[in-house]
Amino acid sequence: PWPKVCDKFKHEFGQHAYTTWLGQLGYQGVDSGTVELTAPTKFVRDWITRHYAPRLKDFFLAEDPRIKGLSIRLAARQAAANAKPVERAPASPIEVDPSTGADESAALDPKYTFDSFVVGKSNELAYAAAKRIAETDEVTFNPLFLHGGVGLGKTHLMHAIAWEMKRQKPTKRVAYISAEKFMFEFIAALRFKDTHAFKQKFRALDLLMVDDVQFIANKESTQEEFFHTFNALVDNRCQVVITADRSPTDLEGIQERIISRLGWGLVADIHPTDYELRLGILQSKAEQAESVIVPAEVLEFLARRITSNVRELEGALNRVMAYATLVGRPITMDMTRDVLQDLIRANDRKLTIDEIQRAVADYFNLRLAEMLSERRARNIARPRQVAMYLSKQLTSRSLPEIGRRFGGRDHTTVMHAVRKIEDLRRDDSQLDDDISRLTRLLEG
Ligand code: ADP
Ligand code: MG
Repeated sequence: PWPKVCDKFKHEFGQHAYTTWLGQLGYQGVDSGTVELTAPTKFVRDWITRHYAPRLKDFFLAEDPRIKGLSIRLAARQAAANAKPVERAPASPIEVDPSTGADESAALDPKYTFDSFVVGKSNELAYAAAKRIAETDEVTFNPLFLHGGVGLGKTHLMHAIAWEMKRQKPTKRVAYISAEKFMFEFIAALRFKDTHAFKQKFRALDLLMVDDVQFIANKESTQEEFFHTFNALVDNRCQVVITADRSPTDLEGIQERIISRLGWGLVADIHPTDYELRLGILQSKAEQAESVIVPAEVLEFLARRITSNVRELEGALNRVMAYATLVGRPITMDMTRDVLQDLIRANDRKLTIDEIQRAVADYFNLRLAEMLSERRARNIARPRQVAMYLSKQLTSRSLPEIGRRFGGRDHTTVMHAVRKIEDLRRDDSQLDDDISRLTRLLEG
């Protein structure tokens, strides 16, 4: 029944939700009426249990009426990893120059692996291409050109390629270098009249990765050398991977012939993250932290509000965790808002209270005037509270201001609504679902 269930899931929740969540599960079979599934991480398991379990059960039931329930446990690998301290990644890196040994500045970050890279719609092509280079021997596209805004994982993917090559093909000669360093080495070689050695060390490689190539814009002689190195490597069927902050055709101050060569292979761009990917990244980070527990609503809040780039997102989470550890208190929403005030403001997406009210009224099939009225019937008061709650969560408006926008209510009324909904979300999974969906609707 599994493929059918997956299809239904995709149909109802979309391909992206499938890739992020259900696609992570392993189907183990049915044991006396219970569907046995495995999840790679605690988070994925909890998330699916919280958000998708009832629908999943429906899907299974439609395939087999004897199904009584679902059981999701952690996959063995994850269970084992949880049980013992994570092994340190092998000591230092692949250097630019394998013959001379140490080159600390080219060190690879042991945290930047394929395992720790969270894949979503915005980066799946870049990820797949990087993986392919690390895993196969054929040169199918050369170069691989990865581009995307700052903090979206370009360097992470390059290091991941290097680590994976080192693991799977330890004899291959791999070099990772920033374009900036490439330039400094080249200039040093010129100064010491040693360009021959410089050329040699780059040309005896199986894989060369040059990070942030936009850096050599307007640096004529460096570009010249880069171009020759590049051509020599490609002719030798050496794989080349390049990153930049923009596409080859958008690069400025770089020679036409280089730009055209750079576009010959596969050009993969990394788009800005979407909500689900941000949440996935936060989750995997939060899971690695052993000493602090980060409540799901805080992760959701961060994923919603810190949208600029992944580096900032990680920074935000780290800040909250560090704060909680220092003051020795558990992480709460209030603490998070407090600690991250500046970041949140900088990331503000300027959603208006009006938009929120309309969306919520619409969602619950109420007229706007009705929702804002004095009526206390549950089916009207609850959506009103939800709208207040979302106004607090999704805008930077103060409680008194939100009160005013809800027909001149007092700020304590708003505060009460926010607390009420926060409490309800914990126990009422239907409401929790409604709010998650509304949030996604509003975030676009
Ligand atoms: P770039 O080189 O594109 O500016 P980085 O590779 O330095 O970005 O990424 C910035 C930070 O964000 C790093 O700590 C990296 O591990 C993290 N990061 C970016 N994308 C992802 C992702 N998809 N999954 C996990 N971590 C990510
Ligand atoms: Mg980078």
